[in-house]
Amino acid sequence: MQILLANPRGFCAGVIMAIDTVDQALKIVGAPLYVYHEIVHNRHVVDHFIKRGVTFVDTIDEVPEKGTVVFSAHGVSPAVRQRAQARGCTMIDATCPLVTKVHMEAIRYARQGYRILLIGHAGHDEVVGTVGEAPGAITIVESPDDVAKLDIDTDADNLVYLTQTTLSMDDANVIIEAIKKRFPNVKAPPSEDICYATTNRQHAVRVLAHQADLVIVVGSKNSSNSVRLTEIAENSGTRAVLVDDKSEIDRTWFEGVESVLVTAGASAPEYLVSEIVEMLKRDFGAELDEHTVTEEDMHFELPRSLRVLRQNATA
Ligand code: SF4
Repeated sequence: MQILLANPRGFCAGVIMAIDTVDQALKIVGAPLYVYHEIVHNRHVVDHFIKRGVTFVDTIDEVPEKGTVVFSAHGVSPAVRQRAQARGCTMIDATCPLVTKVHMEAIRYARQGYRILLIGHAGHDEVVGTVGEAPGAITIVESPDDVAKLDIDTDADNLVYLTQTTLSMDDANVIIEAIKKRFPNVKAPPSEDICYATTNRQHAVRVLAHQADLVIVVGSKNSSNSVRLTEIAENSGTRAVLVDDKSEIDRTWFEGVESVLVTAGASAPEYLVSEIVEMLKRDFGAELDEHTVTEEDMHFELPRSLRVLRQNATA
């Protein structure tokens, strides 16, 4: 059996920054440290930090007054910041800069009087945060059917669309086409909102999946970009499975399989991929063949709020 190892895969610059932020914050303030929502959508990453004394919360009221709270890579709405401020919390913002970019676009277009169609999954942390920036101006659009149901004049000239950063480019394009068809004057965002990491990981699967009999995507079920990778592989006609780690792998999947593509969502640690590759080598005599489809060298600085926390701790 052959293992096609997709590159790029796994951690993106935003996830690395967010995980480093929690790691550093723990070293500075110690436990208990509070993180609002999962720092990234990966069970192993979350469990690792719970063992080190992090408490993940779903509401700011779960953070003690004057406690230290980290905001996750997916971003938060202004209401969450205000609540944390009211409780005297020290806030460390690990929002990915590419999510912040979408927030800034939402704020700017809302101020200019635009009605914003936000293409994304209602209820996803990132979408909730973006909507919170301009709640009266944003309508979430999840499908072409949603576009058909919009109660907006077709000749409206104050309409713009934005997208969640981790969507499938194919799915987003179908919705964008439906929007453009119904609202010919709609404005596009100044640059692509679907982020480089999502784009590159999806492109690698699109290029490589047809060479494989099975695609293994390493990632958690609540990781939007991991689920999208699985869907893209299936849409290209190759069976695909999404697993958190090697314990979820079923040996019967490999009957008749000569080639397996292995990739990982942007929040999945590389050691989980390595464990699966080693298992396939050991149990099936598989040979490794790494394929680089796109080179990446993106890097994000740690948040300024963390640097301030460190300076205050050493002052
Ligand atoms: S997937 Fe994209 S938007 Fe999300 S954290 Fe990574 S780089 Fe940022």
